[in-house]
Amino acid sequence: ETRKETLGFQTEVKQLLHLMIHSLYSNKEIFLRELISNASDAEDKLRFAALKDDSLYENDPELRIRLDYDTEAGTVSITDNGIGMSRDDVIENLGTIAKSGTAEFLKQLSGDEKKDSKLIGQFGVGFYSAFIVADRVEVFTRRAGAPREEGVHWESAADGEFTIENLPLEERGTRIVLHLKKEEQEFADGWRLRSLVKKYSDHISFPVEMKAEGEKEGEKGDYETVNDATALWTLPRAEIKDEEYKEFYKHIAHDFEDPLTWSHNKVEGKLDYTSLLYIPKRAPFDLYNREAPRGLKLYVQRVFIMDDAEQFLPLYLRFAKGVIDSNDLSLNVSREILQNDSTVESIRTAMTKRVLDMLSKLSKKQPEDYQGFWNEFGTVLKEGPAEDFSNREKIAGLLRFASTHTGESAQNVSLDDYISRMKDGQNKIYYITADSFTAAKSSPHLEVFRKKGIEVLILSDRIDEWMMGYLSEYDGKKFQDVARGDLDLGEVETEEDKKHQEEAAKEHKDLIERIQKALDDRVQEVRVTNRLTDSPACLVTGQFDMGAQMKKIMEAAGQ
Ligand code: ADP
Ligand code: MG
Repeated sequence: ETRKETLGFQTEVKQLLHLMIHSLYSNKEIFLRELISNASDAEDKLRFAALKDDSLYENDPELRIRLDYDTEAGTVSITDNGIGMSRDDVIENLGTIAKSGTAEFLKQLSGDEKKDSKLIGQFGVGFYSAFIVADRVEVFTRRAGAPREEGVHWESAADGEFTIENLPLEERGTRIVLHLKKEEQEFADGWRLRSLVKKYSDHISFPVEMKAEGEKEGEKGDYETVNDATALWTLPRAEIKDEEYKEFYKHIAHDFEDPLTWSHNKVEGKLDYTSLLYIPKRAPFDLYNREAPRGLKLYVQRVFIMDDAEQFLPLYLRFAKGVIDSNDLSLNVSREILQNDSTVESIRTAMTKRVLDMLSKLSKKQPEDYQGFWNEFGTVLKEGPAEDFSNREKIAGLLRFASTHTGESAQNVSLDDYISRMKDGQNKIYYITADSFTAAKSSPHLEVFRKKGIEVLILSDRIDEWMMGYLSEYDGKKFQDVARGDLDLGEVETEEDKKHQEEAAKEHKDLIERIQKALDDRVQEVRVTNRLTDSPACLVTGQFDMGAQMKKIMEAAGQ
């Protein structure tokens, strides 16, 4: 196929374009970061492909990105000599969105500019951000190694359609030409573009070049590098500003909010690698989609190897983003090799610890930010005790619960908070699980705890009971479900309480027997209890039986 054809965008693309043009107005500069980011990714991909086949360089091995503008024509163009795209690649990459769950995600958008711009940020804007400032965009591209006749010209005015045709192209790689909207002509300006490159793309790994504008003859018109062009993680920590860390995060995470925190470490010795890990502020739209891409960007000796290398972090830390650059792995490393490589295993153990330490530090130094993290990612972290048995104490320290102490549904009580409020003689951490916070809070099981002033953690997330199955103690104190087994209040229970219960049991022996008979085999046993102060009776689960919430989940799953 070489002829010109007109194709329609996928419905989701049309929606996204419409929303982006209308809600990202106050963030419009980001188009440049997104397009330079794509150019940088394309250079990375070429360098990786050329490890196996260096003819792909086509005698032009200097990887670079060029930024040109024409004030009169009102255009800005971004040119890379990276991997390029075939005709099919272009149709696929610039005409559709492949992420699953996109349609459902787009339905949540409300038309409220502020809210939507946040949501779109979680989704990632990418190439289509070009249309925030341009009313017409052209793409010229040729796949590295393909004959010049296989060059492709794509064009769209974001009106629901694009055209595509073949066009001979001498140079491999991609040029994006933005025909700026009337009111966005200010971007066709050397000073403005230079400052945006500095601001957003200083520390990508490749040079961004612009034509010199100096007065001197001989210099004027030659391309000069306008960014720093050293990969951020290779610099010493002391030389990196917070702003630079934040911009780099946006480049690798496709997010446009700042990260919550980060951790940058160079490790030498038995293992030799550098890691730069970030915790995002907001959950991506597909956090609970188990197929969604996750993982770190992997480099080996500063050469990009792959995105979404999943082997370096466990699933319950899938919200972490970042880069790992190893000097121990081979440049030929593949996903299959990563899966059972002992170096990877050791790095993963270290990365896991690093993320947990980062969260623990955040919780101590910036409790409000930590609370924000918890609200976004808490339910993911709750998968931790089951997945990562060896770190369960550490993970437990990061958990936050609703509690009878606050009486509110917000999950903001840590186990350390709980322990600091334990009564004299109390030796267990009490909790209750239920379908909802309200149901738990009004449970008769809490009566005696209220009377004695003992705090009880309130667990009502779907995952909670399952998680508690993997946590038996914290800081040497056992967890106790208040609706399970014999109630042991430790030394908080007085001799008087015990005596009172024994007497009551004697006194009501006949009644107990009659109730037992009436309920027959529907219950195991009927007992007198000191659990209750107001309610006449309550149901208790055996210490080792499946909990009520778990039972419901299993029933719903048809078991
Ligand atoms: P993302 O970068 O998150 O994948 P984008 O919307 O920015 O999403 O880009 C979509 C896809 O288009 C990219 O994944 C890539 O395959 C392709 N693409 C975009 N720009 C370029 C480029 N300059 N060179 C080669 N491919 C590109
Ligand atoms: Mg992109």
